Amino acid sequence: MDKERKLIIAGNWKMNKTVAEALDLVNGLKRELANVKDVDIVVCPPFTALCEVSKSILSAKNLSLGAQNMSEQNMGAYTGEIAAQMLKEFSVRYVILGHSERRMCQAESDELIAKKARAAHAASLKPIVCVGETLTEREAGRMEKVLETQVHGSLAGLTKDQMIETVVAYEPVWAIGTGKTATSQQAQEAHAFIRQLLVKMFDDAVARKVRIQYGGSVKPANARELMSLPDVDGALVGGASLEVRSFADIIKNSI
Ligand code: PGA
Repeated sequence: MDKERKLIIAGNWKMNKTVAEALDLVNGLKRELANVKDVDIVVCPPFTALCEVSKSILSAKNLSLGAQNMSEQNMGAYTGEIAAQMLKEFSVRYVILGHSERRMCQAESDELIAKKARAAHAASLKPIVCVGETLTEREAGRMEKVLETQVHGSLAGLTKDQMIETVVAYEPVWAIGTGKTATSQQAQEAHAFIRQLLVKMFDDAVARKVRIQYGGSVKPANARELMSLPDVDGALVGGASLEVRSFADIIKNSI
């Protein structure tokens, strides 16, 4: 597929996989995806599996490691938190920030997410910043307003260079884990709208370079159509990233 930006497809394993299960999955992906080029493939295991998965993918040039969250603080008395530098020890390159599950269950605000994004860049980690409206917000005609607030708030204070190295994930909350995917038209409209917001916040050249992933019930069967949309530059995959077959097929169907 000939795309303006290099596709980035990330698997968000959420709170799944013991170390042994994580290694099974990543070994299977290494086998299945050995010959795949021209797409950035990222696996995001839970913190507890980062160390072993990191060692396992050393031999796989086309796989990178991502974390699912990090602290906005560098170090200190923050019980239970993980700092960017700790992730760097395991050669983590990406970090998912502001996933809707964290916005909801941990009450993460746009301001906090922006602090984390700046801390990630300070440590040379690339943030994958998630935004997306709920069904109630969409049905009330507030989708654009919600996306505007989230994009402005969670990317606040980034320089142009940092923004280019940031991935935005558009994940309509009503499509996450529900089996309901946005239609091509809904996805393209939301992605184009987010890119326009980036033009206003940064400039045209920056906005053209930023990769915007779609997330929410991405499956092998819908990947090709979604990835062919002009403003969709990849996918953030939850459920379907937990099995070798489905994640590998999403990637193969996308290129
Ligand atoms: P899903 O999750 O693919 O299971 O819908 C996507 C996500 O939450 O990132």
